[in-house]
Amino acid sequence: MSDYRYKRVLLKLSGEALMGSQEFGIDPAVPQHLADEIKPVWADGVQIAVVVGGGNIFRGVEGAAAGMDRAQGDNMGMLATVINSLSLQDTFEKNGMDCRVMSAIEMHQVCETYIRRRAIRHLEKGRITIFAAGTGNPYFTTDTAAALRACEIGAEVLMKATKVDGIYDADPVTHPEATKFDTITYREVLSRDLKVMDATATALCHDNKMPIMVFDMGQEGVFKRAIMGEAVGTTVVEEDC
Ligand code: UDP
Repeated sequence: MSDYRYKRVLLKLSGEALMGSQEFGIDPAVPQHLADEIKPVWADGVQIAVVVGGGNIFRGVEGAAAGMDRAQGDNMGMLATVINSLSLQDTFEKNGMDCRVMSAIEMHQVCETYIRRRAIRHLEKGRITIFAAGTGNPYFTTDTAAALRACEIGAEVLMKATKVDGIYDADPVTHPEATKFDTITYREVLSRDLKVMDATATALCHDNKMPIMVFDMGQEGVFKRAIMGEAVGTTVVEEDC
């Protein structure tokens, strides 16, 4: 445990990451890969909270673009995050990892309801705690839910897993000449419109001095190295760091 820089972290996974090689839904290989990455760190006693998105199943904005009521679509999106959370819980438990799902929308028959103090207790008892159903409100994203929960539970860092290995000054997929930042300030992320997370999530982290680490979870061992304090990916920090 002493090798680790962080003792309590929140990991944000996008729903799309769960698709793996598929075009929709959950590729079982992805939750298994996540379990393989997370288990050694969890077994060493690091407290791990998780927020997973729902973009592999449904996004409210896409429903709205197709003529749907936005709030109705967002409710569907939040329920999609519950499906993903239950899938992760199933895989984690099959790998011998204690895990609880807490939903921002009450659904007693399926999982626990989010209660901040109970969530902290789960973490202290060594249970991976997955926060489902976003913030419980339409018009928000799971990035904002991740920022909110990270602040609420006193996480030391919000770790955002993405498909690229950090934050670049342009999309490295379409701009191969793009340059990666080792660190960047919250203000710069917002002013350059870098789309690391939405503005609400970034501002919440900024206001609460919550560092954000962005890295590619597909790289083997990267999660452990990040928690050990290695400079993987990009870290979003305050001006004077
Ligand atoms: N959502 C919401 N409120 C929240 C979090 C999520 O309404 O607090 C809905 C919203 O429709 C969003 C969808 O859930 O599009 C899935 O979340 P998100 O798009 O953040 O998932 P990701 O892009 O990470 O897969």
